Order: sequence, then structure tokens, then C-alpha cells
Amino acid sequence: MVHSVKLGKSNLNVNPIGLGTNAVGGHNLYPNLDEEQGKDVVRQAIESGVNFLDTAFIYGPERSEELVGEVVKESGKRDGLVIATKAAHKFINGDTTLDNSPKFLKESVDRALKRLQTDYIDLFYIHFPDDDTPKAEAVGALKDLKDEGKIRSIGVSNFSIEQLEEANQDGYVDVLQSEYNLFKRQAEEDLLPYTAENNISFVPYFPLASGLLTGKYNENSKFNDLRKDHPLFQGETYKENLKKVEKLRAMAENKEVEIAHLVLAWYLTRDSIYAIIPGAKNAEQVKNNLKTLDVNLTQSEIDQIDQIFQ
Ligand code: NAP
Repeated sequence: MVHSVKLGKSNLNVNPIGLGTNAVGGHNLYPNLDEEQGKDVVRQAIESGVNFLDTAFIYGPERSEELVGEVVKESGKRDGLVIATKAAHKFINGDTTLDNSPKFLKESVDRALKRLQTDYIDLFYIHFPDDDTPKAEAVGALKDLKDEGKIRSIGVSNFSIEQLEEANQDGYVDVLQSEYNLFKRQAEEDLLPYTAENNISFVPYFPLASGLLTGKYNENSKFNDLRKDHPLFQGETYKENLKKVEKLRAMAENKEVEIAHLVLAWYLTRDSIYAIIPGAKNAEQVKNNLKTLDVNLTQSEIDQIDQIFQ
């Protein structure tokens, strides 16, 4: 069975299980990344029917886009793929700032097109809001790029509800990407209702809480990357989080799936979440996460998961 969903009011059709590629060439985020392994992750995704690839300028920086571009080119399947990328970070004399000005966004799209070796970007996001640019003006620049055919749809990421409302005042925003997972559900208060009401696709990032929501960790697990300092992985909070995840184990076993599949399937039951982009460090994880598509959650299971993580 071919799984395909439309992302809100965009014209993009994707497999609901996409791929987050911040661990593909994202050397500034994870130590000791093997680029060949990263390319294998993307190859596996494309071979397995994953067609929604999420990257960004800042992953690397630049390297994730370049590696994704190489694999897409070698696959010969560009037309069937939905490539999403993002920009806003700017380096000046060693400092990083954010820039949402029309000029910077337009230059960023041109540079991303080169790195991705493509003529169009299916979904381009403003990665983070800056302090100065009126959001409707920033999105207006993306509308120009859409009219020119350089991008096919408009996204914003890490915007507050007020920034999203302003950005979408002309109804141009197709997709919002925000942090959302079973441990971090603030988006349910404002962003998710807004996206549902305005036919905007909500793409949650960090869906597996960096693997914590796969059930593979215990109290003795040691971390040497971003997990080392992440609040979810500290002290008593970490122990409490592990207990919550353990509550999913019996339910997963009962359905003959893994905890990660339950968790990912649960997101897809939320209003305005049509697709998710779990990250992966190896090709096996990519194949594994696709098993989510075989999971059908009953209303009682959906409620149970909801309650464990309230
Ligand atoms: P995530 O999806 O919550 O976690 C992915 C990590 O979980 C993988 O790197 C892998 O790490 C582990 N994993 C994945 N599948 C697994 C499986 N089946 N079994 C066991 N472990 C598994 O976190 P994320 O990658 O940071 O977020 C997803 C994507 O969202 C990113 O790749 C990126 O594209 C996007 N993102 C966007 C923003 C933004 O500001 N817009 C911010 C962050 C991320 P290990 O093998 O090391 O455990």
C-alpha cells in the first residue's frame, strides 16, 4: 500500500514518515559523524519509499544539505522527493545571528539550491525568528520566491503563536515546524489549535526526544552529545521520564511493535500533524521507523498514551 498524505494546504504529498537529517553531516551537532553512514541513511530512506527529507543550512553547517543533495542526485528520483530546508543563521566575524530580512532569505535560498544541486526547494522554512523583521514581510519574500518557482511551499519554524499569526496574516504559511513530543506538549495550548484551524501542517521536531522515547535507555546510559546537557536527560527528571516510557512497553509488546512505533503513530493521530521527521544515525533505524505505518492505535490506546505523558 502506498502511503501518501498532503501537507496542509500545500501541494506537497509525502509519506507520513519522513527523515530528519541533522545527523547527516551535522558535525556541529554530533561528534564523530561518519559522512558515508549519513549518506547511507538518506539512500536507505529513498529506497524504502521515504520521500520527505528535512535538512537545514545550519546542520554542518552546509554539509547536511550537500550530502542530501549528492544522494538525491545519485538516486535519479528528484521529482518524487519532497526536500525541505531552512535558513536564518548568519555568521558575522565568528558570531552567529539570525536574519529574516527578504534580502538574506532570498540569498539563502539561492545558496541552498546550489548545495542541494536542484532547481527548486519543495519546502523552505525560516528556521528561527529574528528580532527585527516584521514576520509578514519575511514571509512575503518567500511568497516572491514561490511565485518565481524557486520554492514550492512556505514554512516557518520555532515561531511563537504571535509570530505565527503575524507571519500568516496573508494566509501564505503552509507548514510550521516546532518542537513537540510526548515530553514537551506546550504546542497543544496554542500552536496546534491554530495550525488545525488554518490548514497549516504542523511538523513536530525532536519526536523521539533523541531516542529517549524508543525505550532503549536506562539509568546507566551514558551520553556524549547534545543529550549530555539536555534537561530531559538530567537527574531525577531523567529517571521519571524513563518510568513513563516503560509504561509503554507492555502496550507495544501487546501490539507486537516497538515503543518508538507507538510513539510515532500517536503523533500522527493529532490534528494537523500529517507527517513526522524522526532523525536516524543508521540505515537500520530508518527502516525500523517505517514500521510505524503498520500501527493502528485504538482510541483507548491513544488516550492511555496521552494520560501517561500528561
Ligand atoms: P529525534 O527524531 O527525536 O531523535 C532521533 C534520534 O533517535 C536518532 O538520531 C537516533 O539516535 C535515535 N533513533 C531514531 N530512530 C530510532 C529507532 N528506531 N530506534 C532507536 N533509536 C532511534 O531527534 P532529531 O533528529 O533531533 O529531530 C528530528 C529532526 O527534526 C532532525 O533531524 C531535524 O531534521 C529536525 N529538527 C529541527 C529543528 C528546528 O529547529 N526546526 C530542531 C531539531 C531538529 P541514536 O542512535 O544516537 O540514539
